[in-house]
This record gives sequence, structure tokens and C-alpha cells, in this order.
Amino acid sequence: MSANRRDHGSIFRAMLQEFDAAARILNLEPGIWKILTHPKRQVTVSCPVQMDNGEIEVFTGYRVQYNITLGPGKGGIRYHPDVSLDEVTALAAWMTWKCAVAHIPFGGAKGGVICDPSSMSRRELEALTRRYIAEIIDLIGPEKDVPAPDVNTNEQIMAWVMDTYSMHVGHTSTAIVTGKPLELGGSLGRHEATGRGVMIVARESAKHVGFDINGATVAVQGCGNVGSISAKLLAQIGAKIVAVTDWNGGVYNAAGLDLPKLIDYVNDQREQRSVKGFAGAEPLTNEQLFTLDVDVLIPAALENQITMDNAPAIRAKVVIEGANGPTTPDAHQHLHQRGVFVVPDILANSAGVTASYFEWVQDRYGYFWTEKDVNERLEMKMCEAFNAVLQTSLKYHVDMRMAAYIVAIDRVATVTRMRGMYA
Ligand code: GLU
Repeated sequence: MSANRRDHGSIFRAMLQEFDAAARILNLEPGIWKILTHPKRQVTVSCPVQMDNGEIEVFTGYRVQYNITLGPGKGGIRYHPDVSLDEVTALAAWMTWKCAVAHIPFGGAKGGVICDPSSMSRRELEALTRRYIAEIIDLIGPEKDVPAPDVNTNEQIMAWVMDTYSMHVGHTSTAIVTGKPLELGGSLGRHEATGRGVMIVARESAKHVGFDINGATVAVQGCGNVGSISAKLLAQIGAKIVAVTDWNGGVYNAAGLDLPKLIDYVNDQREQRSVKGFAGAEPLTNEQLFTLDVDVLIPAALENQITMDNAPAIRAKVVIEGANGPTTPDAHQHLHQRGVFVVPDILANSAGVTASYFEWVQDRYGYFWTEKDVNERLEMKMCEAFNAVLQTSLKYHVDMRMAAYIVAIDRVATVTRMRGMYA
């Protein structure tokens, strides 16, 4: 996947292209336009780590606070060899629009470290995490900037983030990070939230487009947190998951894959986990996945996966962007013109950050909700966000991506105007 991502140039530029189109429709004044197209803070840090072989490695890390007008910066930390400042900036911008679409009181931020976690030991990962957090410690805080999991980071890593920050400030601070283990102030339902939101949005999209999600066929790219859980929850409401692919290969079964078994199969592998080789299914490549005759296609891996190289072959009625930035702007245009209903990332995967908001609220309150409470509130927030974007798309006669940007930019611009200019 990585070569493909690089070939398509600046991800931040792709974000700006989407932003500009929506800002034009909104008739946004030039001053606010300038503010909203510049990242507020971009920090690069070097993180020395003693590796298990005794040698010292220096890892480059980033934290970008794109905009903190609506509240503390919010956004995950990504560990990946292809992390770059351009990518982290685009992801921080998307977090800004995502929090605004989700209607939660957060700005947008993102972090990333250039590393290959699959080749690192647990001790090395812990040392890297603690050093990275120590390097950005002045930037973050429950009211400043609240990290969370993203690609290749998980609950254990969030526990180390929480501990490192707490040791620095001298007391336990649970609201510094979300996506923590339950025992450390995590929220019930957070782990499944992004996948649950993708399922809700797919169900609502099917209603709008005019087919029944019960019995609909689904193909999923990616079998990480988002891909696997959205597939599992869609199967629970009667959808037939016919294909799942990941970084190493894929599996296809026209009669529907057994999701709980597939997830167990992946989780039982110690490292370099993949769906490849799962019994009871035929092998399938990533390229083939995009050409399948399915009702719903869910890219839930990395950026720039749907490009003009494969978009013309896509036959799905609905595309739900589980990943951030999986579709290039020209490929999106092509799909839209062909009548494919594309639900953009900043809406489709926003349940993750919405549940993060719930976690942050519970930590600050010191009072924890039941899983039922979390899921019901998530359902309400997702339906509210989906409808706001759908109504905007009907009002302005634009696609769902443009509509989501219009909703988000309008909300951030309104608050920027009301707050006025400092100094
Ligand atoms: N990494 C997730 C995202 O891209 C969640 C961020 C968060 O919960 O702050 O939306």
C-alpha cells in the first residue's frame, strides 16, 4: 500500500482542494479562509531510544495542532514507516473538520512517529512512546490537546501515554488521553466505537439510497480495529461480508465470511497478523476487492487507496470511508459522477472521536456510564451528524463530502468570527 500512497503526492494538498471547494460554496471571507488553511502549530521532535541490541536509535515524531478554536486539540498518534509532516498535518486538519461535523467541543490535532512497530519489541515500543510523550509534554494536556489511538497504536500504548504524562505532572491525569484500557479510566464502547459508527452510517446510507442493509453484500479493505469491527457489526445486522483484504492478502466467500471466526484467526497470530490463509474462503487481492459487485465497499486501511487507477472498476452503490483520506479527489469526483454514494471519512469514521469525547467527559466527571448509555448516545450523535450532512447535501445540491466540509467549516468559521482577533 505504501508505494501507492506516496505516488499520489501531498495529502495536505488533497485536503486543501476539498476545503477550497466547500469554502467557495459557503462564500467564506478571505481572512477566515486564510486562518483555516494554515496549521496553528507543527512540532517535530527527535526521540532517542535504546534498542534491545544496546544500540541507540533516533526516531522522528510529530504533533500538529491544526486548529483549536472549538476546544482542546484532539487526534490520534500513528506509528508507521510512511509517517510524514505532510500526512500528520492533513490528518490534523481532518480531525478539525471531523470534530466539527460530529458536533463535539474539540479542535483538531494529530501525532505520528516514523517507525515500524511490527519489528519492535514491547519494551522498545514502550520506551519510544514514553520518550515521544516526554518530548511533546508542554503541548498536551486535558484542556490543551488530547491524544488517542490511530494506525498501529492501541490501548496499551495509551496507558503508557497516560502514565508518562501523569508522572510528569505529579498526579494521575486520566483525561490526558482517550482510548485507554477500562481499568485506567477508559470508556465502555470506545474500542468498538469507530466500527459501530461505520455500521450506523452504512445502514443509514442504504436507507437513503434505497436498499436493505439486511442481506446487502459488503467488501472491506483493512482488518484492523475499524475494518474488523465494522464488518462484524454489519454481519450482526444481516449484511453479508463477502470479502476482506489487508496488507498481506485477502479472502473471499460469496456466501459470506464467518466474521467472528475470521477475527479470531487474525488475533491468534502472534505478529504480522493477516486474514491471508483463512480456511473456508478463496484468496483475493486488494486490486480484486475494488472490482467486486457488492452493495457496500468500506476502505478501512490507509490513505490514497481509491485512485483513478481503480475507481473506474468500482461497482459498489455505496462507499463508506472507514479510513482517513482513502479516496483521492479525482477518484471521488469520478465516483460521484457515476452516482456512487460516498460517505466521507470525516463523517463515516467520526464515531471514534465521538466516543473519545464521551471518555474525556467521564474522566473529567469521575463518573462512568454503562455500555448501553455509550452506545445509545453514539447512535444519536451519529444519526444527527449523518442527517445534518445529508440535509446540507440536498440543500446545496452537492455530494456528501462537500456537504460535510460545508457543515464543518461553517461551524468553525462561526466561532472564529464570534471570538474575534487576538491582538
Ligand atoms: N484516530 C481516530 C481518528 O482518526 C480517533 C481520534 C480520537 O479519538 O481522538 O478519528
